Amino acid sequence: MRCPFCAVDDDKVVDSRPADEGSAVRRRRECLGCGERFTTYERIGEVPIVVVKRSGAREPFDVEKVRVGIQHAVAGSTIDAAAVDALTAEIEEQLRAVGPDVPSTAIGLAVLERLRSLDPVSYVRFASVYKGFDDVGDFERELVALQKQTAPKAPGRGGRAPS
Ligand SMILES: [Zn+2]
Repeated sequence: MRCPFCAVDDDKVVDSRPADEGSAVRRRRECLGCGERFTTYERIGEVPIVVVKRSGAREPFDVEKVRVGIQHAVAGSTIDAAAVDALTAEIEEQLRAVGPDVPSTAIGLAVLERLRSLDPVSYVRFASVYKGFDDVGDFERELVALQKQTAPKAPGRGGRAPS
């Protein structure tokens, strides 16, 4: 670890203890160049996202599945490959912030929310593609709710869907 005081990359650990309720390790280091002490924290770099299906089944999140779904939806639109990549990365970022456990419907909805403002045709197409992802009925209820929220946010989700 490079010393913040003299930039020498040579130190010894003088103390090591758990931090943040065990999710990190705090290390006190002493620079062998200048003798100053500094603290580092070690954490797990990336927590894997787990998709929780409505049935309760769990599976690892597959970002390629999301990318392919978006690609199909935007085919023929003005949304290019770079935009699909950016969109996919944004979705993953959003899910990571929510996770590590993410309901499967949340993934489709995250995509839909973005597509809706980008391109209405892709939005509708993704909605139909997404049906194949998991539980169709559950998704359609969410979609109906989403479509109702065209203007300001609805005060509650208690409304009965006309069907
Ligand atoms: Zn130093």
